[in-house]
Amino acid sequence: MWNGKNKALTFSYDDGVQEDKRLVELFNRYGLKGTFNLNSALLSEELGWNEWKRGLRVTHVNAAEVPTLYRGHEVAVHTAHHEDLTALPPDTLRKELQEDKAALEALIGGDVVGMAYPYGTHNEGVVAAVAAAGLCYARTVADTHRFDLPLTPLTWGHTCHHNDDRLSELAEAFLALETDTPQLFTVWGHSYEFSVDENWERIERFCERMAGRDDIAYVTNREALGL
Ligand SMILES: [Zn+2]
Repeated sequence: MWNGKNKALTFSYDDGVQEDKRLVELFNRYGLKGTFNLNSALLSEELGWNEWKRGLRVTHVNAAEVPTLYRGHEVAVHTAHHEDLTALPPDTLRKELQEDKAALEALIGGDVVGMAYPYGTHNEGVVAAVAAAGLCYARTVADTHRFDLPLTPLTWGHTCHHNDDRLSELAEAFLALETDTPQLFTVWGHSYEFSVDENWERIERFCERMAGRDDIAYVTNREALGL
């Protein structure tokens, strides 16, 4: 399935914040790949999200940094302004998706085919709008604790969040897995959480443990779905 391998690992990180720099550096060091879901209207250190989370000021990366920072990884839609999409009128919903896709495509000079739902919220109308915007997959925040490929890529639940109690157990099960059918380990989160929770060593240990395996392909979300 993936360069002749039946197992693949992928990551999905949201919001395009400054801590992505440390996470990308970590992925690059271990030969891992991820997808970064960005809000194009918020890509500025100054105009971005100046939220304080347990004493940490969370700010976005600057738009100009995007092409270099995420090179070798995937950039995907997280909508222009990070609104709850289920609360938007249809016109605004369409704009939030289309604007973000177009702005990100202009930034990276390539096509953008996927997304993650802000807050994970979606309904039938939102899913239809995502498809109509030309997006092929959309990640939710539902943890499946499974390694199956998604049956419905427009409501794609990942294996687990990086803070999941079962992360190590799932990692060991995945490493030990022998399979003739494609199996996918998908991890999601926000890189600022490692700073807020002071647990960067958690993802460092995970990356080190999972990296460099001959039977695992290290792919973006898009590549994981063969898109
Ligand atoms: Zn988000």
